[in-house]
Amino acid sequence: MITMTDVGKVYKSGEVETHALKHVNVTIEDGEFVVILGPSGSGKSTLLNVISGLDTVSSGTIFFGSKELTRLTMDEMTAFRREHLGFIFQQYNLLQNLTAYENVQIGADIGRDPFDVDELLAKVGLNEARNKYPHQLSGGEQLRVSVARSLAKNPDIIFCDEPTGSLDEGNSKKVLRLLQELNEDFKKTVVVITHNIGIAEMADKVILMNSGEITEVRHNAVKKDAQ
Ligand code: ADP
Ligand code: ADP
Repeated sequence: MITMTDVGKVYKSGEVETHALKHVNVTIEDGEFVVILGPSGSGKSTLLNVISGLDTVSSGTIFFGSKELTRLTMDEMTAFRREHLGFIFQQYNLLQNLTAYENVQIGADIGRDPFDVDELLAKVGLNEARNKYPHQLSGGEQLRVSVARSLAKNPDIIFCDEPTGSLDEGNSKKVLRLLQELNEDFKKTVVVITHNIGIAEMADKVILMNSGEITEVRHNAVKKDAQ
């Protein structure tokens, strides 16, 4: 479980202070599908960055279970991130001189208890494409390689920033289905930032943000299936 207590984040540039997060209190349970929803500039990325240790907080505490992340050194945080956290980025960041299989293997290599690469490729529908290089793959296939790679090390939590932001509708739906599978079949905690109301309907919990504050935390009694 992740517990954020009275978390604040202030960005200073010269005289200008931006309060990107103000008194944020929220919990994320193990296995939850959580969506962070809110307008541009409301603090969504900042929230994700401080939860995942990509950025530090200005005040408050963040616990992963009994481990206080806000007390770790940068090196400790990096080690923690490598072992426990997975990221799906908008740019797929695939290595061009490696095949789909080899790209996913890289993810598996850094895990302590990694998934089997063959199983994973089958799961994301890449059996046929396993020996192709990124430039031989469609956008949707590249995306699935990138998702498989982030999953391969068997992280406890998957973070995903605007997964559908730059994708066409068909690929957006593929991402949504994959995220739902990660959550339901692999029992992973999934935290997704989005503008997309459709994704919010698939979540267990929706964190609504505005001007650096959490304005509402909504629990969905029924989760909608990815279409
Ligand atoms: P969102 O993801 O909801 O669009 P962000 O978390 O990116 O919002 O930004 C929240 C606020 O913090 C905005 O006002 C943004 O301009 C500001 N901000 C974000 N990152 C930085 C930074 N590195 N330096 C200064 N201000 C920042
Ligand atoms: P690893 O699993 O070895 O940490 P990655 O290459 O996926 O491998 O990422 C290393 C770290 O660098 C990530 O944990 C993340 O903190 C950061 N990172 C990687 N790519 C990006 C990106 N495109 N934007 C922001 N941060 C990134």
